[in-house]
Amino acid sequence: MAPHSVVVVGAGQAGLETAAALRGRGYEGRITLVGDEPSGPCDRPPLSKGYLAGTVPAADIALRPPSFYAAQDIELLAGDRVTSVDRERRTVLLESGLRLPYGALVLATGCRPRTLPVPGAALTGVLTLRGLADAEDLRLRLSGPPRSVVVVGAGFIGLEVAATARGLGHEVTVVEAQPRALARALTPQMSDRVVAEHRAQGVRVLLGREVSALYSDAEGRVQVMELGDGERIAADLVVVGVGVLPNTGVALGADLVVGDGIVVDERLRTEDPDIYAVGDAARFPSPHAGRHIRLESVQNATDQARCVAAGICGEPYPYAAVPWFWSEQYAMRLQMAGLTAAHDETVTVGDPDEGRFSVLCFRGGRLIGVESMNRPADHGIARRLLTNGTQLTPATAREPGFDLKKLPRTQAASPSRSTNTTTQERQ
Ligand code: FAD
Repeated sequence: MAPHSVVVVGAGQAGLETAAALRGRGYEGRITLVGDEPSGPCDRPPLSKGYLAGTVPAADIALRPPSFYAAQDIELLAGDRVTSVDRERRTVLLESGLRLPYGALVLATGCRPRTLPVPGAALTGVLTLRGLADAEDLRLRLSGPPRSVVVVGAGFIGLEVAATARGLGHEVTVVEAQPRALARALTPQMSDRVVAEHRAQGVRVLLGREVSALYSDAEGRVQVMELGDGERIAADLVVVGVGVLPNTGVALGADLVVGDGIVVDERLRTEDPDIYAVGDAARFPSPHAGRHIRLESVQNATDQARCVAAGICGEPYPYAAVPWFWSEQYAMRLQMAGLTAAHDETVTVGDPDEGRFSVLCFRGGRLIGVESMNRPADHGIARRLLTNGTQLTPATAREPGFDLKKLPRTQAASPSRSTNTTTQERQ
């Protein structure tokens, strides 16, 4: 039987989608969504792209209009936070003093940005980017005359901010400690092409270089960045994009198992069967990775939310959705399907020099992921192949004239409606 009430901790992508999916399944109990950001659930991807560039208005950042919550009878408590969980009494305590009973509890607490462990990291003008308030601050600082902007970290968020700042006419330097950009996420073929485009756009990309200190002017504003090798770089604004840490405090306080994230089983339940975790904060057993992982993507937050809603409604299924992700930088539209980190062989199709190509990644002769630049059709087909478990060998992919679009329709057919991988592309 479905529980009498559901409390969702964290009003981000995963929290909101959980509440929406519960109502979508006909759940009739009380749903309370508690989020500490006063803005309510917002769409984070534009915060480093269109919103920052000024092309996406603030009104388009809300994930749902205010009327949605009343219409769906979802109680949104924005600007309040859950401070503790009493598992015996099955209640949560909020900062405001409110105590809420729950039948099922969903932890959708997301992540917070890492900061730089160097002197000067807290100076004025050293920013991170996660929420709408961060993006507003950064957008305001980028709206003035050209400045020297230094981005620390060549991950997706760092490179998106670099591309946006460059597009607004600023002088941009990217400093990355690893020998290549996007090292955790992309193959060298793809990340090298991305870096080449940044350089062609006039961004100085420094790889294998570490920040050692930040220095201020007389007013305490950041002015200079010093690197480990002694080089000093002018820096009117520093954006730190060196990864995130999962928000696990509430789970820890409730004595739940926490590693790099809140540990859950294949149905996204913690060891307390009435408490689930979803989205960026959840560490789950991935059939694609063959181990527990955390993923930071809209797809993962949305598909996990649907899986948890099904579980709460008494129709559980194991979470097995094919991971996918996208990024936009300049005219580059990057789309990734599957997990490519463990590949042992790649086949490139298309033309990297023209900025339209895909890297097919195999492990032990099996397709495990596809990275595409400006080849959206490849991405769509790759997701279907991975969902269907269709075999495609490196030898086939290397055949002259091979084209994913020309695969027989049966091979690249849409996944059946009974699978749980039907996230709509939010692009
Ligand atoms: P969040 O959206 O972070 O939501 C968690 C919420 O819980 C936050 O509001 C947090 O403040 C709140 N919270 C935490 N603890 C408590 C508490 N105790 N009480 C109440 N509230 C609490 N993904 C893509 O797929 N493509 C992209 O292009 C892309 N671009 C991105 C750009 C930026 C700038 C950022 C920051 C992220 C981007 N992502 C992108 C990632 C994607 O937005 C996240 O994976 C997704 O938002 C995760 O959703 P979530 O609900 O798990 O976490």
